[in-house]
Amino acid sequence: MLRARTIKTEAIVLRQQEFGEADRLLTLVTPMLGKLRVLAKGVRRATSRKAGHVELFVRSEMLLSKGRDMHLVTQADTIAAHRPVRENLERSSYATYFAELLDRFTPEEEAGPALYQLFSSALGWLSESAQPELTARFFETQLLGLAGYQPELRRCVVRGCAITARAQYFDPLAGGVACPPCGSGRAGALAISLGALKVLRLMESCPHSRLMELRVSPGVARELELLLLRYITVALERSLKSVDFLNHVRRTASA
Ligand SMILES: [Zn+2]
Repeated sequence: MLRARTIKTEAIVLRQQEFGEADRLLTLVTPMLGKLRVLAKGVRRATSRKAGHVELFVRSEMLLSKGRDMHLVTQADTIAAHRPVRENLERSSYATYFAELLDRFTPEEEAGPALYQLFSSALGWLSESAQPELTARFFETQLLGLAGYQPELRRCVVRGCAITARAQYFDPLAGGVACPPCGSGRAGALAISLGALKVLRLMESCPHSRLMELRVSPGVARELELLLLRYITVALERSLKSVDFLNHVRRTASA
């Protein structure tokens, strides 16, 4: 499809960079073509009719045409402007963080429709969220799930013991909850309160709108932030290694 002279696709601007006199290099995420680098000519001129439709985090219907080195944006029409995200520093920082996570979990430019849909939804949630921090935790858990890192929260990851309603441990390397006898003293395992565990479990199954009805204490919010950050770091190290491995296999196969 990328060989076609013109491509019509929905897209969200994931990253942008000034280029030349009045142009911008855009990294787009699309439902069917993964991530794409395209050139938007003249969009830094005040008279540009495309400019508003190719801003960061705007979801647009785009027409791309094959240029010499990369595709050019020939037409763009906004589907969702996500104005509250772009006009608020806190929300736009979260969106930048989401974009970076999406980028890092899909290093081979293989963002599929599900990831596109998640990112698109996440920008919608961020636009309306009364609790952007909790929205961020929700995005992280959904992204981890799609990337194949859904944590085990129902059974102890060490010996499969039943998880009772009390504080537990979370082992990022093993990918889930460890019961107190198995988890205590285990290298790398983090303590997790019952409150934090409940929120994690809820985020697995409930829609964003229902999550927003929840009031999470600052302590639990902090705990979830640190725990997910640790788990994401471990997951990313692993997926980067598997990408290295894949590249190695490809190089060896083509040699
Ligand atoms: Zn156990």
